[in-house]
Amino acid sequence: MRLSGRIEGINAGGADGWGLFLRARAMKDAGAPVLELTIGEHDIGTDAAILDAMHRDARGGNTGYAVVPGMENLRRAVARRVAAQSGVPTGPENVLITPGGQAALYAAHVALCDPGDRALYCDPHYTTYPGTIRAAGAEAVAIPTRPRDFFRPQEAAISERAAGAVSLLVNSPNNPTGVVYDRATLDGIARAAQAQDLWLISDEVYDTQVWEGAHVSPRALPGMAERTLVVGSMSKSHAMTGSRVGWIVGPEAAIARLIDLATVTTYGVPGYIQEAARFALEEMPQIETEVAAPFRRRREIARRILEGHNALRLVPSSGAMYLMLDIRATGLSGEAFGHALLDEELIAVMPGESFGRAASGHVRVAMTLPDAAFETALTRLVRFAERMIP
Ligand code: PMP
Repeated sequence: MRLSGRIEGINAGGADGWGLFLRARAMKDAGAPVLELTIGEHDIGTDAAILDAMHRDARGGNTGYAVVPGMENLRRAVARRVAAQSGVPTGPENVLITPGGQAALYAAHVALCDPGDRALYCDPHYTTYPGTIRAAGAEAVAIPTRPRDFFRPQEAAISERAAGAVSLLVNSPNNPTGVVYDRATLDGIARAAQAQDLWLISDEVYDTQVWEGAHVSPRALPGMAERTLVVGSMSKSHAMTGSRVGWIVGPEAAIARLIDLATVTTYGVPGYIQEAARFALEEMPQIETEVAAPFRRRREIARRILEGHNALRLVPSSGAMYLMLDIRATGLSGEAFGHALLDEELIAVMPGESFGRAASGHVRVAMTLPDAAFETALTRLVRFAERMIP
């Protein structure tokens, strides 16, 4: 029986960039001591106090259907956090609670795009972006970025591809590059969005992981609040990836329609998960810094190890749990480098090509091993890269 073109098209072409990761996992399952620097999963679990709050609430009876937009007190907590961080007045009516940032990304595109509309995203990109856009029925259009711009999207590149587009998806701090967009980049994005009458979808799931300067939400720029949907999540900021709780923040009218969509898709997020998120946001103010601290430390370790080596160049990263390494001096593709590194050193990284065309000749390193193992892996990775120089 035939399935819809929409669902068959989510993984266009079938190459989803996970080949190396799956090979590394298979080797590990077979007993090989592979050091994994691949996916964005913390090496710590969710804090015990958050789990206790979840347990208390579930045992207290909050196990029925939760209200679809999200519990009022969690919507308020998210609104307060977003307002405090961005300076943009935000109330619970501007917040929809979602089962994680991924569901929010999908819902945002369904809310903004009609079938066949062009939806822009930046290359390199978080792996799910183009598939998410296609799943929403829109045409995914990549905005290329360049290594020499540190992969920050340029206003001209956006404008060139904006004809007929309805939305632009941006992500800072960025996965896969670790780059935090500077003010000039954000201003260029805002100008292009206004000139081309685009909605902006701003994926800010790494907003607590900024190592230099501060996170600036493009929703806070003049004229942007009315055309921006912000995607947020407890996954990265609170090491709650498995709990599946996030949000969309935006204009009240858009949130009202997104509540209609949630009613016919997710039908809300479990109440005890929402209570755990509320507890974490309101009663554990120190946790965001604690969860981010290991990545801050490991970035310093990496900078020390990489200093002065020509085989690898670190893309100037100032946020998120990733480092992007330029390996073009070896003459290898990210894919070839990654497979050889796995075979020879039992170290798994993600090829840049997994994240789009713009990051070919690069590899992404997730800083997700404990400090000592991370240091060992990176030291071996550098030695390997030096051997690869022709
Ligand atoms: N956006 C980006 C850039 C991500 O890296 C991720 C997870 N890796 C997500 C969104 C989705 O995260 P979640 O659904 O766990 O909130």
